[in-house]
Amino acid sequence: MKKPIDWGMASFLISYQLFLLISLPFYFYFATTSLAMFGIGALLLYTAGLSVTAGYHRYFSHRTYKTRPIVESVLLFFGALALQGSALKWSHDHRLHHAHVDTDEDPYSINKGFWYAHFLWMLEKAKPIEPKLVSDLMQNPRVMFQHRFILPLMFGSNALVWLLVGWLMNDYLGSFFIAVALRIFVLHHFTWFINSLAHTWGDRPFCQEQTAVNNYALCFLTFGEGYHNYHHVFAKDYRNGVRWFHFDPTKWLIWTLSRFGLIKDLRRMDKLTIKKRLVLERKALLLEKIEKLPHVKQQQLVDQVESASSKMLDKLVSFNNLYKELRTVKQPALIKEFKLIQASLKEDWKNWKQLSRGILNQKTIST
Ligand SMILES: [Zn+2]
Ligand SMILES: [Zn+2]
Repeated sequence: MKKPIDWGMASFLISYQLFLLISLPFYFYFATTSLAMFGIGALLLYTAGLSVTAGYHRYFSHRTYKTRPIVESVLLFFGALALQGSALKWSHDHRLHHAHVDTDEDPYSINKGFWYAHFLWMLEKAKPIEPKLVSDLMQNPRVMFQHRFILPLMFGSNALVWLLVGWLMNDYLGSFFIAVALRIFVLHHFTWFINSLAHTWGDRPFCQEQTAVNNYALCFLTFGEGYHNYHHVFAKDYRNGVRWFHFDPTKWLIWTLSRFGLIKDLRRMDKLTIKKRLVLERKALLLEKIEKLPHVKQQQLVDQVESASSKMLDKLVSFNNLYKELRTVKQPALIKEFKLIQASLKEDWKNWKQLSRGILNQKTIST
């Protein structure tokens, strides 16, 4: 059954984008914008964007760390500046998304189409907030204050930014177009990409069963939220990109604030569970593929996959135990053993990837 249109929301979202797309070329043609104005626009884009990812998403929706009221208030203020509704409503929809991903209960299910997940879902009348889904947030007076006054907060904070930047740069028109309108537009689409592109384009090393994907390119547009397949499996982890080199500025911000004592109790999934999940998920994929291969090859490949994966899982457990032991006692014999396992794991991992590639590249028999 089709949901009724929310005409207020629809006319605002469509008309502001149309206005911007039509007027922006004229603005760039007739006005001169200083580089500093673009710099301020980018800074505000990051401030509001990180308040959504570190605040609305990883804190209010998933509670991946604890923080103080002052940090909550800052996140709520700059979250309002992002013009994405209240943290309460955002978290409510997002918790529904995680609990019912890809089904009819998912508010922005990708199965209803790319553009539905990206934008069109917001044009429909939203379901009322189910208090049991956000009961923790409803006890938070700052969250409830922001929710109650979200409209004046969203428009007031943006008006304040417009006036402040306009006064500072002596350029009210530039401030309106670059620091406010364009910044809101860009951030809207960056955030919406997570519901559309991060459920369409990429790979699924942690879970094949649902549509969320890991997309490294997307991380640069979403403040690190592109490791979405990982996130849907380990949503309680404050990181989305788990390796140190993964581009995840949201994770770096949370970690930095924790160093200053502003944030604490960062939740992270342990390495062993993550690696185990990677092996088991790949194993399931390979066994599925083998079933579609010519019968003569099947048993041999199944045996190879079974033995390689169980060898690696055992080694991962030993590696993890040794790692824990080494944190308490630093015996030379233990260090030597640790290094040996580490090297052989690296070798096993390489062979495992080779075996996977070999099987996945084989031609299946047509059914
Ligand atoms: Zn998702
Ligand atoms: Zn999430």
